[in-house]
Amino acid sequence: MTATSPTALLEIALPVPLRRHFDYLPPVDISPEQITNLLPGVLIRVPFGRQELVGVLLRVKTASEQPSHKLRAALAVIDTEPALDQELLDLCLWAADYYQCAAGEALQTALPVLLRQGEPAQLRGEAVFTLTTEGKGLPVGGLKRAPKQAALLAALQTQPHLTRAQLEQLDIPRNIATTLIDKGLVHIITLAPDCTPPTGPLLRETSLTLSEEQQVAFDQIDYNRFKTYLLDGATGSGKTEIYLQAIEETLKKGKQALVLVPEIGLTPQTLQRFQRRFNLPVVALHSGLNDRERLDAWLQARAGIARIIIGTRSALFTPLKAPGIIIIDEEHDGSFKQQDGFRYSARDLAAMRAHRLNIPLILGSATPSLETLHNAHQGRYQHLRLQARAGKAKPPEIQLLDIRGEILHEGFAQASIEAIGDNLRKGNQALVFLNRRGYAPALECHDCGWLANCNHCDARMTVHQTPRHLHCHHCDHQRALPKRCPSCNSSNIRPLGQGTERSELVLQELFPDYKVIRVDRDSTRNKNSMQKLLADVHSGEPCILVGTQMLAKGHHFEDVTLVVIIDADAGLFSTDFRGPERMGQLLLQVAGRAGRAEKPGRVLLQSNHTDHPLVQTLVYQGYHALAELILQERHITQLPPFRHLALLRAESKHAQVAVAFLQQARQLAEAIQPPSPLLSYLGPLPAMMEKRGDRYRYQLQISAAQRKSLQLLLGQLALQLEAHPLASKVRWSLDVDPQEMA
Ligand code: ADP
Ligand code: ZN
Ligand code: ZN
Repeated sequence: MTATSPTALLEIALPVPLRRHFDYLPPVDISPEQITNLLPGVLIRVPFGRQELVGVLLRVKTASEQPSHKLRAALAVIDTEPALDQELLDLCLWAADYYQCAAGEALQTALPVLLRQGEPAQLRGEAVFTLTTEGKGLPVGGLKRAPKQAALLAALQTQPHLTRAQLEQLDIPRNIATTLIDKGLVHIITLAPDCTPPTGPLLRETSLTLSEEQQVAFDQIDYNRFKTYLLDGATGSGKTEIYLQAIEETLKKGKQALVLVPEIGLTPQTLQRFQRRFNLPVVALHSGLNDRERLDAWLQARAGIARIIIGTRSALFTPLKAPGIIIIDEEHDGSFKQQDGFRYSARDLAAMRAHRLNIPLILGSATPSLETLHNAHQGRYQHLRLQARAGKAKPPEIQLLDIRGEILHEGFAQASIEAIGDNLRKGNQALVFLNRRGYAPALECHDCGWLANCNHCDARMTVHQTPRHLHCHHCDHQRALPKRCPSCNSSNIRPLGQGTERSELVLQELFPDYKVIRVDRDSTRNKNSMQKLLADVHSGEPCILVGTQMLAKGHHFEDVTLVVIIDADAGLFSTDFRGPERMGQLLLQVAGRAGRAEKPGRVLLQSNHTDHPLVQTLVYQGYHALAELILQERHITQLPPFRHLALLRAESKHAQVAVAFLQQARQLAEAIQPPSPLLSYLGPLPAMMEKRGDRYRYQLQISAAQRKSLQLLLGQLALQLEAHPLASKVRWSLDVDPQEMA
């Protein structure tokens, strides 16, 4: 180590679940000046045990707590240009601290996969198809015996090159291009990345004239400073139009807009709406992108080429050259909280990011989360309300169907069946909502009452028909459908209850003249299958859509005028205190699918508990009254948003190990912060599903009046637990502001 100054050390965050940073000596082939000039956020390849890891440089320093003989040298600086700028780096470190996660793991979430693997963060030019000299020699209208080839030729005769996306838009398959490449008529060239700002008008289509109510809301937004706005309006009230116009204001100032949508809300329809409006590059960070495309989109955002970035949860960590606004649509949606590893809330972190950037944040929802409503009540967020439906649409009328004592036809009340029939005969579409996929949620023996349980979980096996099998939706265990009861050998075994597959079959039998389209995770497993399924719906033909919550978000079904909700009671008696809130949100999101356009909609809610106060309030007074009612309960029971929670979860193949770990964790915690009304402990208690995937699951709940004291406790506790002898014998995790109490 003579070439480098012996005192220069690199402090690095590594993608390992240890809550500490790591010190390395600089790589041997790098000069002392280069070392002192290294900026935080630079990616560095280092040896770690026997592996090599890519870490993020936090700082260059001179002293280490580790003895110098233990320090190893880093292998290489991947790129002297930082992959993460100071803003994102700071945000990730803050978040790692807040969510009690290792810094390296948080940083890992912010980095595209290819960068984590050591790829340089360089914008790549786009590969495009263009004519060869020979191809240019062909006459206009050439290749007419092969129509697709002729179409490609014609397209390339009118424009210099075509991107893959353009090829797809023209409906020309890739293999046609390959054929012409083989014939020597077409070749692929790489264009240099285009960093010139597009010229011409900002808008592709003119914005709508805002209604008075929209205008009032829109006028409140201040683009020059941080403020969180809750844009609270029913589905169809014109929230998206306000987003679009707020983005327009942002773009006019030369800034970028970051838009987050729920995981299943990023539909082609949503995307098209933004692309139709703006004459500027919109990039979407969706699950269909491969790693390279994702990196390209990320780099385009960082370079300021992409002006509007739309994505799901992790898109929050997109680097922005000129950040101007953050918008979160359907802010109440559960997918904004990551449920494993780095358990962050993109919504809550967006507020932190916007605050640090001093830019506005808009949270939009028809059914705001109680946390957000509470913040609005407290004056922390500015509450912008849209009460009317935009355009000509009327709000749907919700009707309760009391099904107590009624003999249902495979889950359907007579009134529901009649309403569906009427609706179809009038030439309209109907949507049947049932949040349970498969054929039936259980298999039962009629003679002895045996139920098919999962061998690995405290759960029933779901019956599936296509293909026929039993499936555990919790651990993915599958097995054949038994012909006889394993307990009494009776052949009288039957599926119990309704799933989407079963409803689809029933509806098809009842209405043989109409198409029944099922939308759930099973029917949409293949790429583009959702779009194919929905093409029929968008054609406007009368049909029945039956599906799970996949239908509740992001889609607009102009011709659906009836929604039937098979089971409105699912969340009422949930052991998760958020059950009723989620139920209200889901029901209204589904109801919001009806009557979007000129046609008024109707919603039928089948319920066994029509007189339950929560159901009554939701139906007769609406979501906001329900929210108030639940907030009052939360206040009395001292639950979020009135208290701050953290869950310490532990699971093990041996129940007693998980319990012992949590008992000791509680002792450690109480030694740091003795229990008091300001900070209380509950547990260890079994999780809602005690056994799952052969592991026994327990949890310790910590509830605090102040975030600050919870943070102080968790910071110390996490380090002690990491070093605890039982820690390696269990799977444990800390979840700050948990959304699922399971
Ligand atoms: P949301 O996002 O709240 O569901 P949208 O912005 O999608 O509502 O608006 C619902 C429908 O009303 C859309 O078809 C939209 O084009 C239309 N719309 C919204 N604002 C206006 C307006 N100011 N004038 C006319 N139509 C509007
Ligand atoms: Zn039996
Ligand atoms: Zn299972």
